[in-house]
Amino acid sequence: MADKLGPALAEPVFDRLALVGLGLIGSSLARVARRMNLARSIVAIDASEEVRARVTELGIADLVTGDAAEGVRGADCVILCVPVGACGAVAEAMKPGLTPGAVVSDVGSVKTSVVEQVAPHLPDGVHFVPAHPVAGTEYSGPDAGFATLFLNRWCILTPVPDSETEAVAKVRAFWEGAGSNVEEMTAEHHDLVLAVTSHLPHLIAYNIVGTAADLETVTESEVIKFSAGGFRDFTRIAASDPTMWRDVFLHNKKAVLEMLGRFAEDLYALQRAIRWDDGQALYDHFSRTRAIRRGIIDLGQETAAPDFGRPKPEA
Ligand code: NAP
Repeated sequence: MADKLGPALAEPVFDRLALVGLGLIGSSLARVARRMNLARSIVAIDASEEVRARVTELGIADLVTGDAAEGVRGADCVILCVPVGACGAVAEAMKPGLTPGAVVSDVGSVKTSVVEQVAPHLPDGVHFVPAHPVAGTEYSGPDAGFATLFLNRWCILTPVPDSETEAVAKVRAFWEGAGSNVEEMTAEHHDLVLAVTSHLPHLIAYNIVGTAADLETVTESEVIKFSAGGFRDFTRIAASDPTMWRDVFLHNKKAVLEMLGRFAEDLYALQRAIRWDDGQALYDHFSRTRAIRRGIIDLGQETAAPDFGRPKPEA
């Protein structure tokens, strides 16, 4: 499996790419789009003056603006890279500037809610192809981004019933150009899969780190000092962006609550095994979960390195 981005495309996928929200994901897209020639020009749109100033300093876009309608004017691709809860307002704001024939996409970690928020604002002739790159870190903002963030990671497209085949193909080509593997599924299925693989693990991490912080008989310095025993990995996940994750849980409520119910039942089964000294049940369970971890490593979605095998930020 390639550990570096290949040569840039001879012909860009899009002419003018407008990115709304230049945080971790948006700024990584700007970097890889430029490096891989995925678009002829890049417009960066962000509500924050501070972010706009930093993006200008970094030089990762050709034009930087706070006006969504102006920014998307003339763009043949617009990608929303804002927190899930902001997608509807951004779509409404950019509507007057959208060019007929343009492709609108997003990177939101929840798909059904984004479709419900964005689709009503898109004029006829604008093609909507929702997407979710399953790649990220616990850092935020334009300085956190790097061009190889999406390399060898999955990007899930959730086309809506009237997504045009050609528009879906272009979004696929864009993500493949960024180094990703692309898969398609419905928005509903995506939300269920991600509830168990991403959203629930984040909730567990937020919860366990909170529990440890609230303990009265163990000091905070002991928690930090002895954190190598599994806790440290939870703290990395629990350091993820609070706005982003608040929105994920509020907008994928149904699937998360369903998975949380199942999780609680399984936890009670483990609690029971411990109470009744059922070592065999514990051993069998831990053996099964160990095999899943090995499967993830075999699929190239992780290395055996103890620091989660994160790719080192580059450019
Ligand atoms: P981030 O680093 O916090 O960046 C979000 C950016 O959007 C910030 O610059 C923010 O400005 C800006 N913004 C917020 N509301 C806006 C609005 N109404 N109009 C214009 N700009 C606005 O977040 P991120 O991690 O890149 O996440 C962005 C999206 O990617 C989210 O939908 C998330 O679900 C998805 N995603 C994230 C990850 C991950 O691991 N982080 C992975 C996959 C997908 P302010 O700083 O002023 O708020």
